[in-house]
Amino acid sequence: MTLDFTHDPSRRCTVASAHAPGCDFTLQNLPFGVFRRRGTQEPFRGGVAIGDQVICLAQAHALGCFEGLAAEAASAAGEPTLNRFLSLGPAAWRALRHALFRLLDADVRDPRGAALLEALVPLADIENTVPVTIGDFSDFYTSIHHAENGGKLRTPPAGLAPNFQWMPVAYHGRSSSVGVSGQQVRRPWGQVRVPDAEAPQLLPCAQLDYELEMGAVVGQGNPQGDAVPLAKAMDHVFGLTLLNDWSARDVQLWEMTPLGPFLAKNFATTISPWIVTLDALAPFTTAWQRPPDHPQPLDYLESADNRAHGAFDVALEVWLEPQGRAASRLSRTNFRHQYWTLAQMVTHHTVGGCNLQVGDLIGTGTISGPTPPEAGSLIELSKRGREPVALVNSDEERGFLQDGDSVILRGWCEAAGRARVGFGESKGTVLPARRT
Ligand code: CA
Repeated sequence: MTLDFTHDPSRRCTVASAHAPGCDFTLQNLPFGVFRRRGTQEPFRGGVAIGDQVICLAQAHALGCFEGLAAEAASAAGEPTLNRFLSLGPAAWRALRHALFRLLDADVRDPRGAALLEALVPLADIENTVPVTIGDFSDFYTSIHHAENGGKLRTPPAGLAPNFQWMPVAYHGRSSSVGVSGQQVRRPWGQVRVPDAEAPQLLPCAQLDYELEMGAVVGQGNPQGDAVPLAKAMDHVFGLTLLNDWSARDVQLWEMTPLGPFLAKNFATTISPWIVTLDALAPFTTAWQRPPDHPQPLDYLESADNRAHGAFDVALEVWLEPQGRAASRLSRTNFRHQYWTLAQMVTHHTVGGCNLQVGDLIGTGTISGPTPPEAGSLIELSKRGREPVALVNSDEERGFLQDGDSVILRGWCEAAGRARVGFGESKGTVLPARRT
């Protein structure tokens, strides 16, 4: 990931709203999603968010805005999913980013820049869908703070699993239930064993929770049998989203020994609609550190480059909005605290020969920071519901999620001398359990 003219914070955008304070979708961001005008039966098609607008890439392509590899990329990105665009590879992704940046640069006098403005649709008028056809979804577990917090909530309290500090552990999730921001999440039923009861019962989940995560979208696959070395791992990632791994804690507690979570996690996952590319995130990589008194990674998970640039400095927040009430912030943390980097996750995922495919989704696992208020799930903040969290902007409190609650994840990158790059939001709303 190298810096180029598209990271220059001094460039001005022809779309004025891109300069609004706190705007996520700046000229230096240019995230990709799939959209259509809300309330229509138009086909979904790819777009790039800029300010409070989205560029319809198919229309811009038809207006002759692009040439060469950028034109090929825009044509593919105009389709109902971004998979074919991703499969064109990093040179094509970059060609389209560079072309869009030049056409939106207020100081570049190119008549095609005026044509591009004809392909804008207000974000307020659109709806998004999941931007890629997701083949497989794997969810990691890479925050040591989350793992330690969870261990303390066990009865009796448990320490870290012996493998945690040696490998980024994960389970295979469900891609079928991944939705995009705005998802309505039905409270699941599942087997629950109430404490001291002799037998489990089938009940609506009473301990519904969220998990603050990031999602990595695979942009290049690897042949089955060929591991991806750490030095090449990030070449296989197109970009990142926010990801809420909804979790049924009471179901999870009973089912997860010995093979891990199943129904507790497979009913819904909500991602943010715009994939922020690794190119946009290049100014925000940061050092990854492993405390010297901890086990150090095995050779295949170790490199100087991963130490120097393996982490991402992404500020993250979770907000809870009770139905009809103001939203309250539950926690704030940063992606840079993870115990394992995204590159290490990709390399470990493939070390046995597993083939990643274009459009696969990799969850980072819950992102909990080093102090208790930075926890990325409600079970940690409320100590499994024993210490309900007061919602500062309403007169309510929560041990777990209630029907009608919306969970909103937000994320952004800011640094001195850099333009802000934001992720927008992932919002999902809890619906009541179905009656039997
Ligand atoms: Ca998770």
